[in-house]
Amino acid sequence: MAVLECRGLTVRYGDVVALDSVDVSVAPGETVAVLGPSGSGKSTLLYAIAGFADLDAGEISVAGVEVASTRTAAPPEERAIGFVFQNYALWPHLTAEETVAYPLLRSGMGRAQAHEEAHRLLDSVGIAELARRKPAELSGGQQQRVGLARALARSAKLFLLDEPTAHLDAALRTAVQEEIATRTSAGSAGVVYATHDAVEALAAADRVVVLRQGRVVQVGSPVDIYERPVDRWTATLTGAVSVIEADLETEATRTVARFGSLRVAVHGAAPTGSHGELLIRPEWIVVGDTDAPSGVIKGEVGARWFRGPHTDYEVTTPVGVFTARVTGAPQFEIGERIGLTMTRAWLPPG
Ligand code: ADP
Ligand code: MG
Repeated sequence: MAVLECRGLTVRYGDVVALDSVDVSVAPGETVAVLGPSGSGKSTLLYAIAGFADLDAGEISVAGVEVASTRTAAPPEERAIGFVFQNYALWPHLTAEETVAYPLLRSGMGRAQAHEEAHRLLDSVGIAELARRKPAELSGGQQQRVGLARALARSAKLFLLDEPTAHLDAALRTAVQEEIATRTSAGSAGVVYATHDAVEALAAADRVVVLRQGRVVQVGSPVDIYERPVDRWTATLTGAVSVIEADLETEATRTVARFGSLRVAVHGAAPTGSHGELLIRPEWIVVGDTDAPSGVIKGEVGARWFRGPHTDYEVTTPVGVFTARVTGAPQFEIGERIGLTMTRAWLPPG
């Protein structure tokens, strides 16, 4: 049985339709990332599930029990959900350790053990040394980590995490993501993880729900979302992509795009016409010199960005502008002529 089932959720704030007929389900042990830009409705979805936003349409069930519809709404404390929201909402009079220990004490754990466990949780989010501080003595990011530790201390069937690592630096972000994964996969709890950060969504989730202006535009595995995006907008949300118009041909059972003597395998919806808009990820492009025997698309390096593990090049060619990625430090100069081939291209549906 799903730990969360949302059907047709619609939430309006006056004229603003924050959620428009959203369906989301979460299986036991599953982490579902809700990915979308700022204002797409992520927080509203989590508020609705937790019981802080009223529904204009739809139903929500947690572990098979209906908790909200347009007729009924169970209060947040009756929903067996652990959550951490962007606006922290810590108790001002409790220290960090007391805050995290509180749900453990309520669940019947002994005092010494609850404080020991609270300390361990604070350590896992990198703030054990701040255990005796109250919210007023903590920065926004530190308060958020206390909130996260408190949420993880609860034994809940469902955790809602709203941008839980937004204020953390890269190293701590990874550590906190690992802690979330460990805590939640140990039981059969489900997780809804809202983030605008695609890298985080792809890494953290079993499944990704892409939200755009309150609507679900795609649901799929992280690999589906990245390699088989439903459209150009969704492709751009998860990283660099080249958009190239091409004539398509059917060769035996496969579709290819032909660029001079270069043929590129096209994955995706079977083309209805002979022309399509291909999406090509930078790492599907192979950069070489301009006179490779198998045919290349020749172009000129217009810009380059060193990103640490790899360098991205913008390459202007007669068929369009490509973003190509090469492992390591920059090796081609701006203005240099290079040749491109590619291992595949994606043709989105529709
Ligand atoms: P996200 O978390 O993805 O940034 P939100 O759920 O916060 O998005 O917001 C979705 C939309 O609803 C936005 O257009 C936002 O401006 C609007 N909105 C959110 N909360 C309120 C509110 N309390 N009153 C009016 N509009 C709101
Ligand atoms: Mg938000």
